[in-house]
Amino acid sequence: MGLAGLLAWLQGPPRCYLCLGRCGKGMLCPVCRDSLPGPRVACQRCGRPLARPAPACGTCLSRPPPYDSLCCPMEYRFPVDQLIQALKFNADLVAGGLLASLLVEPLVDRNGPLPQAILPIPLHPRRQRSRGFNQSSEIARHLGKALCLPVLEDCLERWRHDPPQSSLTALQRRRNVNGAYRLRTRKGRLPESVALVDDVVTTGSTVDAATRVLKSAGVRRVEVWAVARAMGAPGT
Ligand SMILES: [Zn+2]
Ligand SMILES: [Zn+2]
Repeated sequence: MGLAGLLAWLQGPPRCYLCLGRCGKGMLCPVCRDSLPGPRVACQRCGRPLARPAPACGTCLSRPPPYDSLCCPMEYRFPVDQLIQALKFNADLVAGGLLASLLVEPLVDRNGPLPQAILPIPLHPRRQRSRGFNQSSEIARHLGKALCLPVLEDCLERWRHDPPQSSLTALQRRRNVNGAYRLRTRKGRLPESVALVDDVVTTGSTVDAATRVLKSAGVRRVEVWAVARAMGAPGT
């Protein structure tokens, strides 16, 4: 959406972000809401698709990931992929708010306590400078507001600058992020339970690497919250 369209959209009567048709409340009309690729039926531990709801898939029963749960309500396909790209590459902050609202729904509805704080997956400072902002922080900011949780921006840092994950195979992705994150705060200053926020989970290697850093710093429980899971990629 261009700037003029964005202003008209913000000032006019409530309109659906995707089809521009009138909508009562929320940012999508009921038709577009129903056409979204989610909520998915997935393993609560790793987010792999399942035929029916279950707390863990076969892989997680034998070889669980380091994080304790993964909430990832949408599939990474139209129109969610377009919304994520609009946020990431066009700095479309309205799309950011909409994506966050899709992630808030299952978090509000769930049983059990929420984590104590939200940590966005950081970008390398050089990538953040060139993009102007971090899309995960943008989503995390909305989640923090909606769930009344603090967003801790400066606890983790990406200190190695490597090729973008999207250009790599599953094995390369894992090598690319191993050791790419480190703590920016002293051990023991982190809450006992946190949620790591990312826009998309593909192979899981990014959230895997960040979780290992947090757990080695004494965090007991790490949840992963991402808007979408890219399906069918090798190694997912
Ligand atoms: Zn619509
Ligand atoms: Zn699983």
